[in-house]
Amino acid sequence: SKVPPIILNNGVEMPQLGFGVWQVPDDEAEQAVGTALAAGYRSVDTAAIYGNEEGTGRALAASGIPREDLFVTTKLWNTDQGYDAALRAFDASLAKLGLDHVDLYLIHWPAPALGKAGDTYKAFEKIHADGRARAIGVSNFLPEHLERLLDATSVIPSVNQIELHPRLQQRAAREFHAEQGIATEAWSPLGQGKGLLEVPAIVAIAQKHGRTPAQVVLRWHIQLGNVVIPKSVTPTRITENIDVYGFELDTEDMAAIRALNEDRRLGPDPADFNAA
Ligand code: NAD
Repeated sequence: SKVPPIILNNGVEMPQLGFGVWQVPDDEAEQAVGTALAAGYRSVDTAAIYGNEEGTGRALAASGIPREDLFVTTKLWNTDQGYDAALRAFDASLAKLGLDHVDLYLIHWPAPALGKAGDTYKAFEKIHADGRARAIGVSNFLPEHLERLLDATSVIPSVNQIELHPRLQQRAAREFHAEQGIATEAWSPLGQGKGLLEVPAIVAIAQKHGRTPAQVVLRWHIQLGNVVIPKSVTPTRITENIDVYGFELDTEDMAAIRALNEDRRLGPDPADFNAA
């Protein structure tokens, strides 16, 4: 495979680079995911709230790629938190994807005001024990949310998927995850493309290596050990974003990107995001 895996804390292999489909309408998802699979991606990141599990599932089926070579992630939306609701929501996601199991199932947000993350995660443990999710984890959990979860449950989450890019490097969270054996997965790894890809330091590193700014940013993540799930619906960019294994950033490049951290989020603050 084009993309080397990382090994999750339960031994499951996850491709370190996958394809994200947030904001891709259901009727375009089949084509976008199909393009990604043809370009060599084997991991796809969707969510119930994205409304494109059906289109994603159609692309997976149409690809003819053996199920065991694919890695499919979906996520449970806030309104489906709670033990019984989570089990029902998982059934609905599987049906839409047209699958009998996913590779990774994530609680999309901690939604602390709901107070249901612990019960929700107990349903995830059952789904995992039943073999319907090869790995389970969380998304947007701050270390304090993870600590609360770890106190109340038995299966350590395999992954925490958080906003992470050169302007929001999440050093404390990454360190905490590493101590706990939780893989860090970066959402909006390209900073949503906005501005980040024009930052002079990144452009200069790209020129030095004869690569694009997007490839430099993705390579930075790979070298840090992050899982990345860049999104694009443009075939040339989809291809460009997976072509990050033929070069290496040096210490100087890594330090220059490290200096770009501003601790600035593009998305909501997990401490008070409880959206329905
Ligand atoms: P991203 O950082 O992947 O940026 C995507 C945007 O960058 C594209 O829409 C395009 O405008 C631009 N782009 C992509 N490739 C490019 C290239 N090669 N050259 C120039 N510009 C390029 O942003 P994202 O979509 O927000 O995040 C990726 C994925 O992360 C999502 O699709 C989704 O799967 C996941 N995500 C998860 C959460 C969560 O709460 N768990 C939140 C947001 C995103």
